Amino acid sequence: MQTHNLGYPRIGSRRELKWASEQYWAGQLPAGQLMLTGRNIRLQNWQLQKDAGIDLIPCNDFSFYDQVLDTSLMVGAIPERYHALMEQQQLPDVDLLFAMARGYQKDGHDITAMEMTKWFDTNYHYIVPEFTAGQQFTLFTNKVLNEFTEAKKAGFNAKPVLLGPVSYLLLGKEKEEGFHRLELIKRLLPVYLEVLEKLDDAKAFYVQFDEPCLSLDLTKEEQQVFVKTYQEIKSKFPNLHLILASYFECYGPNLRTALSLPVQTIHLDLVRCPSQLEDILSGGSGDSAGSGNPAGFGDFKKTKTNLSLGVVDGRNIWKNDYQQSLAFIDKAIKIIGPDRVWIAPSCSLLHSPCDLDLETNDGTLPPEIRQWLAFAKQKLTEVATLKKLATGEDASVTHKQLEDNIQSHQSRKTSPLIHNKTVSGRVAAITEKDARRDHPFHIRKDKQHKALALPLFPTTTIGSFPQTTEVRSLRARFKKGELTQAQYDQLIEKETEDAIRWQEQVGIDVLVHGEFERNDMVEYFGEQLAGFAFTKNGWVQSYGSRCVKPPIIFGDVYRPTPMTVRWSSFAQGLTSKLVKGMLTGPVTILQWSFVRNDQPRSLTATQIALAIRDEVIDLEKAGIKIIQIDEPAIREGLPLRKANWQEYLEWAVKAFRISASGVQDETQIHTHMCYSEFNDIIQNIADMDADVITIECSRSQMELLDAFASFNYPNEIGPGVYDIHSPRVPSRAEMVALIEKARAVIPSDQLWVNPDCGLKTRHWPETKQALMEMVEAAHSLR
Ligand code: GLN
Ligand code: ZN
Repeated sequence: MQTHNLGYPRIGSRRELKWASEQYWAGQLPAGQLMLTGRNIRLQNWQLQKDAGIDLIPCNDFSFYDQVLDTSLMVGAIPERYHALMEQQQLPDVDLLFAMARGYQKDGHDITAMEMTKWFDTNYHYIVPEFTAGQQFTLFTNKVLNEFTEAKKAGFNAKPVLLGPVSYLLLGKEKEEGFHRLELIKRLLPVYLEVLEKLDDAKAFYVQFDEPCLSLDLTKEEQQVFVKTYQEIKSKFPNLHLILASYFECYGPNLRTALSLPVQTIHLDLVRCPSQLEDILSGGSGDSAGSGNPAGFGDFKKTKTNLSLGVVDGRNIWKNDYQQSLAFIDKAIKIIGPDRVWIAPSCSLLHSPCDLDLETNDGTLPPEIRQWLAFAKQKLTEVATLKKLATGEDASVTHKQLEDNIQSHQSRKTSPLIHNKTVSGRVAAITEKDARRDHPFHIRKDKQHKALALPLFPTTTIGSFPQTTEVRSLRARFKKGELTQAQYDQLIEKETEDAIRWQEQVGIDVLVHGEFERNDMVEYFGEQLAGFAFTKNGWVQSYGSRCVKPPIIFGDVYRPTPMTVRWSSFAQGLTSKLVKGMLTGPVTILQWSFVRNDQPRSLTATQIALAIRDEVIDLEKAGIKIIQIDEPAIREGLPLRKANWQEYLEWAVKAFRISASGVQDETQIHTHMCYSEFNDIIQNIADMDADVITIECSRSQMELLDAFASFNYPNEIGPGVYDIHSPRVPSRAEMVALIEKARAVIPSDQLWVNPDCGLKTRHWPETKQALMEMVEAAHSLR
C-alpha cells in the first residue's frame, strides 16, 4: 500500500512566494533571489510531505504563476505577441512567464496578458492556452526534468506531475477559426514523449498525468483521443508507471474510457464521488445511482490496475472522518488486496490553506472550532495515519489516533456551537409562499413606479465607490486599536456623506452609500453572522500572487442583529433622493466560503437566505425603498456536469428568492452579476424574479444582451455601459450608442443605466468623470 499526494500549495505557508514575486515585479528583488525563494519552498514542501509519511512525493507541482501556463511554456505554445521578448537578450526566463500571465509594458513593448479563467469549480484561476491552426509545439522548458532531478538529488522519492496532454488542449482556446484544438494532439504528443524520455533517462519511475477534463461532459470523439493518446504513451514507455488523476467529479460517463486506459494507477476523488468505488469494484453491476457511471465494464479484480483512493478532502478544511475513510479502504482491500490500494487526498492540496499550526490562540479562530479542522499539512498526516490504520502498523499509536478522531467527530455532531434549534425550526417551516413576492412583477412594477417616481433610463451604480488608501488605512488602524469605534464611525460617516453629496450633485437617480465600511463583500457579512469563523493564515492561492482567505461556515447560520441598517439609514438620512440598500446574496456567501460538510450545501444556503431575508425586511422597515442583493457567484456554482445543473439551480434560485421575498410589492429588489453569459441559464435568472438586474455588458458591446432579448426577459435590466476594469473614461456618445443598442432589443421602460460592476478598484478622478458622462448620456436619451 502506498500513500501519495497529488500536489502541495506552492505559495508558501507564510505566502513567501507572494511577497517575493511582488517585490520582484516592483524591481526590488533580483531574479536570483526569487529563484531561491522558489527552491526553498519546494524543498520545504518535499521535506514536510516526507516527514508526514507520504511515500510518493509530487514534483513539478510548484509554479511561479500557474501550472497550465508552465505547460504552455514546456511545449512552446507561446503566442506570437511574446516572440519579440524571446529575442530580447538578458531577459530572465521567468520574465517571459510573467509577461504571458500579466502583460508586459516596458522597454518600448506593450503586450497584453493571456486570458485567465477559473480552474473547474474552484476559485483558482489558470492562464488559458492559446492555439492557432498552424500551431507548432517544441520542447521549450525543462522545468519538469529540473524539478525532478532537484528532488531526487535532495533524496526524495519524487513523482513528476504533468497536466495531461488531452486536458491541456481542452482547457485552451482556438484563436482562429477552422480547426478544433484537439486536432493538435498529433503535434503535441511528440513533445510530451520527449519530456517522458528525459524523465525516463533520469530514472523516474512514476509519472502522474492530471486529466481533470475526465470530470466534464465529453463527446465520443474526445473520449477516443484519450484512449489513443495513452496507448501511444504506454507503447513508447512500457516501463513507466503511469498514474491517471481526475478529480472534482465522478468519472461518470467517462468511467469506461478511464478504465480502458493503459495506466497502472487510477485516482478516484471519493469525496466528490463516493459511489464510484463500489461501481468500479463491482464491475458496474453495483448501484450507480447519482454517479452517472455506466454499468457493466468487466471484472476489475482481474486487472492489475491500482486504485488511488482520494479519501481526504483537498477542497475543504474539515478533519477527515477516519471511520468513513477506512470503510472505503477496507472495501477496496477486500476485493483487490492491499498492494493495489493507494491512499491520497481527493485532489491537489493547492486548494487548501497550508498549515493549521499557524493558527495560534490570538482570538481569531476559536479553539473549539480549530479542533475540527485540518489544513494541507495536517491532511498529509491523515493520509499517512489512514495507511497505518488500514495495515495495522504502529497499532498502539494509531489506535489512540482513531479514538481521538471519533471523539472529535462526535463533539462536532453534538456541539451547541453548531446546532441551533431556532434555525432548524425556521428552515423546516419555510413554505412556498416565503419564496414568492406578494404579486407577480407586472403588478409590482406599477406600484414601484408610483412609489419611486423614477425617470426613464434611471441611473445608478453597483454599490462600492473607490476604496482609497485612506479608507483602507482607516480600517487597518481601527483593527489595530489605533482608532476608537466612535472615531472610526465618524471618519466613515464623512466618506459616506461626501459620496452622497457628490452623487446628488452629478444627478444620479438612485444613490448608494459607497460601502466604505466593508473590507470584502463576503467577509463583511460573515463577521456579523452566527455560524462563521475566520482564520489568520488560511490563505489559498487564487491566481498568481493573489490569495483569498475564505471564511469557514461551521454552524447553523443566523443573524443576531441587523448588519447594514446603520449605514444604509445614515446615508438615506442625508438625502431626499433614494439610496439603495446593499447586501451580498446567499449563494455568493456560500460559494466564497469553506462550507459545512455535515449537511448539504443547499441547506446552508437556505440558512443564509433566511439571515439575509431578515436584513432585507429590516432595511425596508428603516425606510429603504430599493435593496440590491448581489449574486455574482451564482453562475460559477454550476456543477461541472450539465446533468446536475437543474438540481443546483433549483435550490440556488430558491435561496435567492427566500432572501428577497419578505418585502412589500412597492419595495424594489435589485440583483447584480458581474458577467453576462446567460444563454444557458436565462430561465433561471428570470426565475430569481428580481425587479431589476444589473449585469456586465460593455466589453461585449451589448452583444450579450441577446440572451435577454430572445428570451423576452420580463423584468427591468441595467446592462453595464462602462467597463470599470479599466481606468479609461468612456465618452457620453459611446454610452449613448451602447444604450441605443440595448434599446434595439429591450423596451426603453425596462432599461437602467449603470456601470458594469462596483467601483472600489477605481480612483476618484476617473470615476467622477465617467459617472458625469453616464448621467449626461441618460439625460440625452430621455
Ligand atoms: N456591490 C458590490 C460592489 O459594488 C458588488 C461587487 C461584485 O459584483 N463583485 O462592490
Ligand atoms: Zn460585479
